[in-house]
Amino acid sequence: MQFVLGLLAIALLLWLAVTFWYIALAVLAIWITVRVVRHVRMKRYFSGEVFQAHLKELSSVVTEHNEIAAYAAEIRAGGQFGLGTSGTGSRSSLATFENTSRHDYRRDRNVAHYQALNVHNCSLQVVRNASADPLKYLIKYFGVEATEEGLAQVEKLGETISRLENAVNNLKTREADITGEFNPPKFILKHYEKQFTERVGVNLSPISVPCPEYVFEYVSAGGNSSQRTTVKLNTPTIDGLIEALSERIRRRRSAAGQRALMTARFREEIKRRDDYTCRYCSVSLDDEPHLLLEVDHIVPVSRGGLSTEDNLQTLCWRCNRSKSNKMIDA
Ligand SMILES: [Zn+2]
Repeated sequence: MQFVLGLLAIALLLWLAVTFWYIALAVLAIWITVRVVRHVRMKRYFSGEVFQAHLKELSSVVTEHNEIAAYAAEIRAGGQFGLGTSGTGSRSSLATFENTSRHDYRRDRNVAHYQALNVHNCSLQVVRNASADPLKYLIKYFGVEATEEGLAQVEKLGETISRLENAVNNLKTREADITGEFNPPKFILKHYEKQFTERVGVNLSPISVPCPEYVFEYVSAGGNSSQRTTVKLNTPTIDGLIEALSERIRRRRSAAGQRALMTARFREEIKRRDDYTCRYCSVSLDDEPHLLLEVDHIVPVSRGGLSTEDNLQTLCWRCNRSKSNKMIDA
């Protein structure tokens, strides 16, 4: 039945094409004309006076944008984006696993990920509990230690992620601003966005923030069902983890855990204390609305510096970058 219907439809289309061939031709001609006209308009816009004048005027803005894009790539390359690992499957590389059943190929979807260090294989109960209380289960099963060192590690991860997040967000607002300054005709952004950024000279940064993900996974013995809870370590989760760890440390009444915690809120407090002004070169958010500011340890953590208010300062990205370069040289 369907076959016959299909044949009828094809026959109908053929008949229409033969009978109304001039309409088909006209549609094709219009389509081609629209494209050609659009292309000519695009060429004219890019070589036009308005665009060229903007290009000259904004060249330093574009250059700075590209420098920050390179800086974001540096942060990304130099950062460590991981924390603890799961104990399950730490020896699993010694074995290989194969599903050799001939039927029910869909079971392959539910093969346990024993070899991934960010996946904890566990019972269904643990998967459910982890979704209700992710921080507690993260600490318990991924070996995040409630010690001063463990806390420092989480804080370091939080700083790297927030630095990268800041830089990436800064780039996005800069990009929007540059596009706004050029204010190209709508059809340019709609059809020639790539050509536009190329002509402007903006290096679009492909970097996204690689927040580590930790997974609690249950796979049934037969592989017919699986359930997982995923915890993404973004800034709110990391801040929660920092507070949970320090709470545990404090409960044990050690001297540690009394200091300020390097959370997103605390970093913001330091910037506010410094009036959003770089302590080295005195450039401020008032001078440059898109200024990328960072919080720096005066004595670095690697040299015993503490995350205390008097050891923290606000620096602009340029000064922070050249300070850390000097540290490497020294
Ligand atoms: Zn500065």
